[in-house]
Amino acid sequence: MSEADKKDLPTFAPISTRVVPRFAGVPTFLRLPVHADPRDVDVLICGAPFDGGTTFRPGARFGPRAVRVASALGRGHSPERGVSLFSQLRCADGGDILCVPMSAERSLANIAERTYEIASARAVPLVVGGDHTITLGTLRGLHRVHGPLGLVHFDAHSDTFGPAWDIDLHHGTVFRHALREGLLRPADVLQIGIRGPFTAADDLEFAKQAGIRVVMIDEVKADRAAVARAVAEVSARGPCYVSFDMDGVDPAYAPGTGTPVPGGLTSYEALQLLRAVSGGQVVGADVVELSPDHDVSGITALLAVSVLGEVLAALAQAKSNQPNT
Ligand code: MN
Ligand code: MN
Repeated sequence: MSEADKKDLPTFAPISTRVVPRFAGVPTFLRLPVHADPRDVDVLICGAPFDGGTTFRPGARFGPRAVRVASALGRGHSPERGVSLFSQLRCADGGDILCVPMSAERSLANIAERTYEIASARAVPLVVGGDHTITLGTLRGLHRVHGPLGLVHFDAHSDTFGPAWDIDLHHGTVFRHALREGLLRPADVLQIGIRGPFTAADDLEFAKQAGIRVVMIDEVKADRAAVARAVAEVSARGPCYVSFDMDGVDPAYAPGTGTPVPGGLTSYEALQLLRAVSGGQVVGADVVELSPDHDVSGITALLAVSVLGEVLAALAQAKSNQPNT
């Protein structure tokens, strides 16, 4: 490739595989350039390597690094939506947010500050966890800019549960905290893939009282199209956040996670439901609970890369539909 050709390459897009092969180079999210300033991009992908809120097997702090390595196979075109991601969106790897292993409080404060900074610059933060605790930080940061958010949440767990060992903040309580703090619009909260076995019969009591919609895994298996319609509706009703816990997917497809629950979504079902997201009002998203030490052949990390790609495709499609201003 000539120097003149190189100059025409978009700056905030993955490095061309004609310049650097997929398996070479320093790994970054989706092979994007590293760039910290959100004012220059539409989307900034940041790591949040915190797993101090994990209640079972730890390791999600290594999630961002594994996603960067698996990003070698990231792609830039969505045939389902008919859109090329990086011709619509300037994207960069924004680096990792400083997380303190033994302090959820300080880690969440840093995550909230960084996502606030990104949203204030009118960019969309995509955050790669870390355990699900990190989402409370991103929601706090985004709420300061966008107000209460809708939520499309993929998970085996509702994460509206009670304290563990008298500690009220952990990866299974984040959405109870978010609802109590007024960060979410309860009528526009959709949880997908939820399944037992629960610890107690009243595990979903808070969710019921809060008025959020819990879509159990059986509902997805019985009528995925109906769930996809709900995803499309909720994501279009106002500023919306997409949170993807890898354990929403069956451990046969996503074994690399801290709290696996059999009987979940296939990776295909999860990606199809993400393809129903209407991107026009999506103001942030995350992929959490990837624990690479429990992964097999990197398949969970590769699925996390695909999730990032689907969220970008939703944003890119929305942008391509906008009149140029
Ligand atoms: Mn979760
Ligand atoms: Mn979970």
